[in-house]
Amino acid sequence: RKSVVRITTGSQALDELLGGGIETLCITEAFGEFRSGKTQLAHTLCVSTQLPLHMHGGNGKVAYIDTEGTFRPERIVPIAERFGMDANAVLDNIIYARAYTYEHQYNLLLGLAAKMAEEPFRLLIVDSVIALFRVDFSGRGELAERQQKLAQMLSRLTKIAEEFNVAVYITNQVIADPGGGMFITDPKKPAGGHVLAHAATIRLMLRKSKGEQRVCKIFDAPNLPEGEAVFQITTGGLMD
Ligand code: ATP
Ligand code: MG
Repeated sequence: RKSVVRITTGSQALDELLGGGIETLCITEAFGEFRSGKTQLAHTLCVSTQLPLHMHGGNGKVAYIDTEGTFRPERIVPIAERFGMDANAVLDNIIYARAYTYEHQYNLLLGLAAKMAEEPFRLLIVDSVIALFRVDFSGRGELAERQQKLAQMLSRLTKIAEEFNVAVYITNQVIADPGGGMFITDPKKPAGGHVLAHAATIRLMLRKSKGEQRVCKIFDAPNLPEGEAVFQITTGGLMD
């Protein structure tokens, strides 16, 4: 039986909300409006995952699938310095791939699984998990097929999480939900419907606050109490 590892987010408040950090063996999803910090959390986790266990890291490598072209290696440098790590060594342990279609994204996962069988990985990031599906299946009549392919991709992610004891961190977009009436006060919901809702064990909703301050709310998690944490986005990554 594999034992769960919890990886620090860089913010103690956020770690406490999560019961210690981002967990291996399951999928953690973050959704929220643009600039809410989804990608910055991904960058911080790229570094903190490589910390030793006694420093709340995962002592492992990172795989990063980028569908939006927003990974910035130069952002890794000050984050590594903040944690007292060698930036070049940290960058060497991030296996990065840009995906251009949903099929490409799926095939990259197959290749990564082969790599994970040989090397100790502790985190897989897919930022964003859904963007390419929304482009590749944009037609009205394509929704059923999109959801079927999305389910396949997510089941592959779950399998990787469990087989290699890695944390899977995926980001998602918010979509307007017109709901049943015209006067809905909270019209935003995560994309991906029931398929994504069922695949992600821990669903986090991020939102902007003043300046570089952000708020994370537990949207859905079976074992965590409801609550919120406030954190900051800084040059050194997420902090309190
Ligand atoms: P999107 O939906 O557009 O992908 P996102 O949720 O991924 O958005 P991020 O890219 O994580 O958003 O957040 C971007 C924000 O992070 C910037 O607007 C800025 O406020 C903050 N940020 C980025 N780099 C730095 C930095 N070096 N120092 C401080 N804050 C930064
Ligand atoms: Mg982003």
